[in-house]
Amino acid sequence: MEQLVQHVIAGRREAGTGTRRADVFDPATGQAARQVVLGTRADLDRAVAAASKAFPAWAATTPLARARVLFRLRDLLEQNMQQFSAIITAEHGKVLSDAGGEVTRGLEVVEFACGIPDLLKGEFSDQVGRGVDSFSLRQSLGVVAGVTPFNFPLMVPLWMAPVAIACGNTFVLKPSERDPSASLLLADLFKQAGLPDGVFNVVQGDKEVVDAILEHPEIAAVSFVGSTPIAEYIYRTGTAHGKRVQALGGAKNHMVVMPDADLDQVTDALMGAGYGAAGERCMAISVAVAVGGVGDALIDKLAPRVRGLKVAPGTDPDAEMGPLVTRTHLDKVRGYVDAGIAEGAKLVVDGRGLKLQGYEDGFYLGGCLFDDVTPDMKIYKEEIFGPVLSVVRVDKFDDALKLINEHEYGNGTAVFTRDGDTARAFMHGVQVGMVGINVPIPVPVAYHSFGGWKRSLFGDHHIYGREGIRFYTKLKTVTSRWPTGIRAGAQFVMPTTG
Ligand code: NAD
Repeated sequence: MEQLVQHVIAGRREAGTGTRRADVFDPATGQAARQVVLGTRADLDRAVAAASKAFPAWAATTPLARARVLFRLRDLLEQNMQQFSAIITAEHGKVLSDAGGEVTRGLEVVEFACGIPDLLKGEFSDQVGRGVDSFSLRQSLGVVAGVTPFNFPLMVPLWMAPVAIACGNTFVLKPSERDPSASLLLADLFKQAGLPDGVFNVVQGDKEVVDAILEHPEIAAVSFVGSTPIAEYIYRTGTAHGKRVQALGGAKNHMVVMPDADLDQVTDALMGAGYGAAGERCMAISVAVAVGGVGDALIDKLAPRVRGLKVAPGTDPDAEMGPLVTRTHLDKVRGYVDAGIAEGAKLVVDGRGLKLQGYEDGFYLGGCLFDDVTPDMKIYKEEIFGPVLSVVRVDKFDDALKLINEHEYGNGTAVFTRDGDTARAFMHGVQVGMVGINVPIPVPVAYHSFGGWKRSLFGDHHIYGREGIRFYTKLKTVTSRWPTGIRAGAQFVMPTTG
């Protein structure tokens, strides 16, 4: 991995015009491992100029030829799976096997985008009038941009770029400055796959570059994934500048545990969904809603498992959970644990004292488990984004549903039950975009689409899948008649069929 993480503009690495740099940390040791350049408005302008220049030829390339580039990218991603996993673990901290899972879920979006000739097929109506036919097609937008979060440094860029590029757009990616290196390997592989220079560009940076993206007149659309306050800002500012925007935000995902659920299955599900990737997943379960007296048995099963979590550097093959991404984030999550105690929640397992020999400066927090959490508490209302699971106890299923529906976030949720009526009532009535029935992390596969409701998504389109195709294309509808067809002479009334 390179010591200075640079931009990729028109197929070339460059440090850009700015002088600002940010440290990129190894969360396992707490040491600054390299630096990333923080781009300027001028760097972004050059990337957009390169993308604009590449656009006409790329848009004119047939969908089948574009798909062939993506087929090659797919194979290259698979061949580089280990290298990607190592890069992700080195900068994010998640365990290697989980990083591999991230690569696979990203690769699946590339596989989806390989079907672009079929996905772009329009509709045709014969004889909408006498001798008149009508058909629709979808055309690319132009230069589009993606702004991505730290928690999936490869997968989230792959939610966007393959679909946008398959549709004939050119792309500018602004990765998270906390773990930027995966974007460089991705750019290398796009190039090796035969993507023309300028179709995929990377501009590293922070707010300065993001604001330049939001204001740039040649960028037609922006995809954003990150926290809710920034998502809302991106949506408002981007749309005010005439752009199409999809901005995916934060989450507080509840899992409802019904009294008839298999508690061993529930416990396994909560361990993985609550503590996997140290809780730094937008689909992590952070609240377990124990219905009708199941709370005691649930806590009895969960507590020893949370105490026994194997927390270690992500490269340790036995690790179940690695460190948090930065010291600032670690301090923030610890602050939530302190706040939960102060508000009267019962801390059943306290991970704050965890120290790892040889890794004393790493950003580790042991698993934390709260019981008796109530909806007025800060730890219930806000997204913590760490290994902290809250148990809320309610009497009835309807109380659980009401809790979820009244929460400001609506990203993912799950119910664990053996009862079909309960599962259906939950699926039908819950005000959340992605729902699991005995599935704790219901992240849709690449040929469906991903997105939350309420303040977990700003904009009209979910991401990837067919929603992604719609987001990255404009619909055109053509009505055609040939000169040899029926002639009606000049008509001064609104055309009607028949
Ligand atoms: P973040 O909002 O801090 O940063 C996301 C991106 O926005 C980064 O590229 C960052 O550089 C940029 N950014 C940060 N502050 C900015 C500002 N003031 N102005 C303009 N741009 C700014 O999010 P994060 O901490 O990197 O990621 C974690 C968050 O992302 C969590 O809230 C998580 O729930 C959310 N997330 C959501 C989804 C989803 O699909 N809904 C997926 C992954 C992560």
